[in-house]
Amino acid sequence: MATTKPGDNLKLESGWLCLDFSNTMDWHASEHPVESLTSYEALIAWTRAVNLLPERTAQQLLRVANQHPTEAARVLDRAVALREAIYHIFSAAAAGKSPSADDQAAFNVEFSRSLAKSRLAWTKTTFEWGRQGEDGDLDQMLWWIMRSATDLLISEDIQRVGECADDRGCGWLFYDTSRNRTRQWCSMRGCGNRAKAKRHQEKVKSEE
Ligand SMILES: [Zn+2]
Repeated sequence: MATTKPGDNLKLESGWLCLDFSNTMDWHASEHPVESLTSYEALIAWTRAVNLLPERTAQQLLRVANQHPTEAARVLDRAVALREAIYHIFSAAAAGKSPSADDQAAFNVEFSRSLAKSRLAWTKTTFEWGRQGEDGDLDQMLWWIMRSATDLLISEDIQRVGECADDRGCGWLFYDTSRNRTRQWCSMRGCGNRAKAKRHQEKVKSEE
């Protein structure tokens, strides 16, 4: 039974795999969200971008997907459904609201699947959760995303999850590491900058 471990150094914007995964949809909180997971290949491209799976595994999954397009499409559907559940559950948490029963149900479908593929792995000094499966499992990235989501959901760190305050509905989630948890924007480069520019414009206008 082979277990593929994720890349050693995840390249995450938010610091949490599950939150970065949620941010694969742009303008998530708007009427016109923009999907970036438009194919199984796009899902693999994301796993590469965040360094989730070793390169040889990514290559292998693309080959398997090519041979089994129906299964790959099914995994993509599951990935998108999981991402939506993750977004809505964390978005509700960030707003101090309860998650909907539908989102919890959708999340738990994948949670059950991931538990069935879990095992305890001994790492010389401690036990940790490990994935049990084959190297060519098309859905293996979902296991790691689920692991990240459940870790964060049951931890006190969930109080540090925020949703971008951009008024056009950015909807990106972030992990607030500021001491007083005052962060508002997904990034100062993106929405923070836009908000600053807008305030500046309004100030200039009011002074005219
Ligand atoms: Zn934003």
